[in-house]
Amino acid sequence: MERSFVMVKPKFADKPEVIEYVKKRLTDAGLKIVSGEYKSYSTEKAQEHYAEHFRGSYENAKPFYKTLEAYITSGKVYGMEVVGENAIARIRELVGSTIKTDKETGAQILPAKGTIRYEVPLMINEPHDITENVIHASDAPSAGERELAIFKTL
Ligand code: ATP
Ligand code: MG
Repeated sequence: MERSFVMVKPKFADKPEVIEYVKKRLTDAGLKIVSGEYKSYSTEKAQEHYAEHFRGSYENAKPFYKTLEAYITSGKVYGMEVVGENAIARIRELVGSTIKTDKETGAQILPAKGTIRYEVPLMINEPHDITENVIHASDAPSAGERELAIFKTL
């Protein structure tokens, strides 16, 4: 059994129909939602959660870090502990990827149809946004444990 930290981000977390939709996608896939709670990230906690993008300082941070921090600290999130067999990979599949930019044409490549990141903005008439996406899910078992521990301290 694996544990993942799954979080509906600001702009979406205050919409009950989005929370219900995300929970249904997870439970329909046979995953178990152990807990779910509304909390918010301070700047410091955002830096801890996104340590791989913050890299210790704003000088060293990835170019998109500031906008990411502004987004994640902009309002309440809904964080969940989700468990199941092979949970990490299966949830990442349900979530879909972030928006990518085609290097040659500069065109945006949206997450795949049917994924949560693709379907939820359509459902509530929000644009697909490169930073302001719907949801986070841990990308490795170690990340799951680390992120769940941080969320407990919020
Ligand atoms: P992916 O499956 O695409 O790797 P992810 O959820 O792992 O998605 P990260 O690469 O960890 O995403 O990035 C964390 C967050 O930072 C993203 O969800 C998105 O909000 C934001 N982000 C990532 N890359 C960019 C970018 N190039 N421009 C703007 N925001 C970005
Ligand atoms: Mg990533």
